[in-house]
Amino acid sequence: MILRRRAPLLLTLLLPLLLLAAACTRQHQEPPNVLLIVVDTLRADRLGVYGHQRPTSPNIDQLAARGVLYTHAYSQAPWTTPSIGALLTSQYPSVLGIRAEPDSLSEDQVLLAEVLKQHRYATGAVVSHHFLGSKWNFDQGFDHFDESNARDHDAITSPDVTEAALTFARDHRDEPFFLFVHYFDPHYDYIDHPEFSFLDPARPYGGPLRSAMVYTDLLKLIPGLGPRDVEYLFDLYDSEIAFTDRWIGALLDGFEQLGLTDDTLILFTADHGEEFLERKTVGHGGSLYNELIHVPLIVSYPDYRPTATAPRSGWPERSWRGTAVETPVALIDLFPTVLDYLGIAPDHPIAGHSLLADTPNAEPSPRTVFSETDWGMYRAAISPDHKIIHRLTSGERFFYNLQADPGEEENLTARLAQTGELQNFLSLESDLQGWLDYLEHAGRQADEVELSAEEEEKLRALGYLN
Ligand SMILES: [Zn+2]
Repeated sequence: MILRRRAPLLLTLLLPLLLLAAACTRQHQEPPNVLLIVVDTLRADRLGVYGHQRPTSPNIDQLAARGVLYTHAYSQAPWTTPSIGALLTSQYPSVLGIRAEPDSLSEDQVLLAEVLKQHRYATGAVVSHHFLGSKWNFDQGFDHFDESNARDHDAITSPDVTEAALTFARDHRDEPFFLFVHYFDPHYDYIDHPEFSFLDPARPYGGPLRSAMVYTDLLKLIPGLGPRDVEYLFDLYDSEIAFTDRWIGALLDGFEQLGLTDDTLILFTADHGEEFLERKTVGHGGSLYNELIHVPLIVSYPDYRPTATAPRSGWPERSWRGTAVETPVALIDLFPTVLDYLGIAPDHPIAGHSLLADTPNAEPSPRTVFSETDWGMYRAAISPDHKIIHRLTSGERFFYNLQADPGEEENLTARLAQTGELQNFLSLESDLQGWLDYLEHAGRQADEVELSAEEEEKLRALGYLN
């Protein structure tokens, strides 16, 4: 295994950028840039701004201080390809047909990058997972598509991802651009970063787990793991998050130094979370509990206001900064939010809702969001206070009161009348059924990537295709 550490390089790179930035001032009334940052495998509850006690996320927290924090954001799938596919198209995974690892985005799907490119945006992506690569058709609409950081799970890629993203921003700072930046380090294998370590020297860990342990080896040890092992895994996971946060800070600082911050709509989120033995396993993909689908979401709006359009009631105000929205929202909402903000009407049906309709601190509008996975064959509907997880194979329904039972430990379906939850259940079940009917009508089969024997073997070694 090779771990590469090149932290100081970027700082030397940034100095000349700083000088160049001073020479560049853009017309303020031009449409703003759009920066979409997605961290792979990042649970909301391990960030300071979502209540975590450890200093894992000073830079992300700072972004929240100048943006809107969505406290109840849900991904539409608990693994990478369907989640980010849904985010970039505003279509549900079943509608994209993405159900298993070889499923790719079809050519006839319309990605946000394609729409923005039509509207004269320069488009760039820096991705760090094979499943988001050109082979899976995620390069549609991107003029510049950097997948050189899609490496094995033990690679440390945040420094190179940051450097590639800032190079694109510098090269395109004189024109409106859309930049999608995908970080991967919190994903297993979990690695302790010495400069961001949460291991307690006073309580050395003596169990069977190790930093950078190969995931398939870790899975074999699961039956014997206990609370102290879980604590150790969280120490490593938090270290990965703090390391990634440091590089997100470098990315945002780079934008500041290039003079781009005031002209950029910044969206920060994650494709899914991670489970650490809450349901007897470690990883993601196989269920729809909140440790897997409750993701962070921050949107920072610049002061852009197109002169050609009249102010709207939902237009972001300065007073939105540092506020929070508690209404459940979905990652498929980002596509329509960006278009709404830029005054672009989508010319095809999309599934999400613009977040500009959800004003911070207003009364939350009732909203049900949905998530799905074919790895465990589950579908879920989530309202502000409740959640139904529906198991397709058996028809079972698991119903939780998220306020009273945030850990989703007590399935209330057998006690609906006694608990006074019958009406809540029926209402959410009706939404779930409506969505299932929609998926049945709109769902499709995906195009499958053709994998060579060598590629297939590599994916199996990484824990996929099982
Ligand atoms: Zn992922």
